[in-house]
Amino acid sequence: MAPGGREPGRLSVVVLGTAQDGGRPQVGCHCTHCQAARRDPALVEGPSALAVIDDVHRQMWLVDVTPAFPQQFDGLETRLGAPYALAGAIITHAHIGHYLGLAHLGREVMGAHGVPVWVSPAMARFLTAHAPWSQLVQLGNIRLERLEPDAPHVLAPGLSATLIPVPHRNEHADTMAVVLEGPTRRLLYLPDIDRWEPWADTLAQVLPSVDVALLDGTFYDADELPGRNRQEIPHPPVVDTLARLALLRPLPRTEIYVTHLNHSNRLWDPVHAEALAPHGVRVARRGDQHEL
Ligand SMILES: [Zn+2]
Ligand SMILES: [Zn+2]
Ligand SMILES: [Zn+2]
Repeated sequence: MAPGGREPGRLSVVVLGTAQDGGRPQVGCHCTHCQAARRDPALVEGPSALAVIDDVHRQMWLVDVTPAFPQQFDGLETRLGAPYALAGAIITHAHIGHYLGLAHLGREVMGAHGVPVWVSPAMARFLTAHAPWSQLVQLGNIRLERLEPDAPHVLAPGLSATLIPVPHRNEHADTMAVVLEGPTRRLLYLPDIDRWEPWADTLAQVLPSVDVALLDGTFYDADELPGRNRQEIPHPPVVDTLARLALLRPLPRTEIYVTHLNHSNRLWDPVHAEALAPHGVRVARRGDQHEL
């Protein structure tokens, strides 16, 4: 390997979780998917998150640090068969499934030192202004790195990330999609978006430029959550996403997955998941690995 260079195959992305923020089972829910997960631990799923792993230096970077971070981190180390250092994290937005796990970096648990956390400027303001996150900053457990959107930022040699603003209900800060770029490949991570229309041009521009895309698959269709106001929790149904993707094809370079599945989503059932194949879309699975 050339000094400072990167041998191919060193960096890859591992899917740590594929559920919506509440995970599966969701607390207090007795739907068939949640009950099945209570009976079979293999069906338990944490919120959507990724890890970028570096097998040479045995370190990892997280994309979103979920409430299931302890289980997701331990599960990944078990799979990797060796301790990996947490070298940093990117946070997409301030909804509970995407950042609550940061609490484990504090003095009550890991007592981390200066772990870089890459966020938008608005997300940095949110974390700095509110306890308990502000304590992580004050005690130096984390070091906030403000990334201006729409420009690539080098996170580590050979690894860069671009944040792209996404329309999403932003009660506390804003919401970003992430494009990760390694030595050979690019991956788009977009777990939450309210609707495709305002992002149509961006999707049409970004999708052909990445090798892997993990997109918001929260709800399969519009009838999925009886008793809940869908206006309060908007996401494009997967059926709409399939139609939109059809307009953008051919996309010869891009493998497309849906992730961030609500507990109610029929795509938890393998039969329904396989029915996406003719549309050129797969359901993301925990443990999926994508080389960067
Ligand atoms: Zn979410
Ligand atoms: Zn449920
Ligand atoms: Zn969200």
